[in-house]
Amino acid sequence: MIPWASPLAQVRLRRGAIDAAVARVFDSGTYILGEEVAAFEQEFAAYCGVANAVGVGSGTDALILALRALSIGPGDEVLTVSHTAVATVAAPIAVGATPVLVDVDRVSYTIDPSRLEQAITKKTKAIIVVHLYGQPASMDVICEIARRHRLKIIEDCAQAVGAHYRGRKVGGLADLGCFSFYPTKNLGAIGDGGMVTTADNELAARLCRLRQYGWNDSRETQEAGLNSRLDSLQAAILRVKLPHLDADNARRAAIARMYSEALAKLPLGLPIPRAGTGHAYHLYVVVSDARDKLLHHLTREGINVGVHYPVPVHRQKGYGERAIISKDGLPVTEWLAGRVLSLPIFPELTDDDVGQVIRALSSGISRL
Ligand SMILES: *Cc1c(COP(=O)(O)O)cnc(C)c1O
Repeated sequence: MIPWASPLAQVRLRRGAIDAAVARVFDSGTYILGEEVAAFEQEFAAYCGVANAVGVGSGTDALILALRALSIGPGDEVLTVSHTAVATVAAPIAVGATPVLVDVDRVSYTIDPSRLEQAITKKTKAIIVVHLYGQPASMDVICEIARRHRLKIIEDCAQAVGAHYRGRKVGGLADLGCFSFYPTKNLGAIGDGGMVTTADNELAARLCRLRQYGWNDSRETQEAGLNSRLDSLQAAILRVKLPHLDADNARRAAIARMYSEALAKLPLGLPIPRAGTGHAYHLYVVVSDARDKLLHHLTREGINVGVHYPVPVHRQKGYGERAIISKDGLPVTEWLAGRVLSLPIFPELTDDDVGQVIRALSSGISRL
């Protein structure tokens, strides 16, 4: 069975170095924050080309803490998308704000900047821009709109670590960048983990307080906070993997090229990398009217494809009721939910595996 992602393959590959890093933490006697987290934060900030990185408990917490750092809460509206991981929308709800869902565009599947302005009200405080599937959103236009309306921008980089936009890495393109180290992500931990990046030293200092109860350096609380720290063991493991991230992303891009060349003549929508950007290819998503038939065919052929995402967040229980759908509606989001299919893509996937996926997909299409 070929999976669509394989965190195990990467652990196997780097097992010796990971074991040594874990042993180092065991022997250090420091199990919360400490040198491992501080060192990884520095290395990660340098990698992203941003001044500050603050390690937190998960990607969802990264988004929640970023909103808290911007003082966004009850009564505030946050613009974002419905075609995303539910966590993107869970964060504004967790801080008591109202998510306002804007449609994505039909080519890049990221937020449609031409629909942003109609969704802005007096209550709008921020935009959470998702670099979906690893593709940077059209930041130039979005930043210009945000500047004109005095809105903050949070980048949801959970799927896009290492992606770049006009020569700059994601996470450093706006006010705050939020990352997830969920095991299947391009930079995956062996458990939960997350990071917030920012060029603003004051926001970084506030994030450091908010991630542990509101404490300052003297452990006096300054405001109410959470307990959401990046685990020291996970930081040590991520330090093993970070130096390999660019090579891993290059391998993902090579796999994406193989797919794109082989599938070009088939009746499928293929990923179209935005000009001037480096796509991180967290997922390689094709679009087909016969998605469900192809999914069953591929499963029968031993290929475990994914669907990201079958149900838009505004149709999910617990979220839909708490979100506002922007006036333009979500036609592209609805259209995509029934058509997207994620082909296997991860650095350890072999050329033979890729060939098998291409053959299975082609035979599936010829039978339609
Ligand atoms: C994975 C993901 C998150 C959430 O990250 P967790 O670490 O699982 O909390 C948020 N946004 C997007 C787009 C994601 O893919």
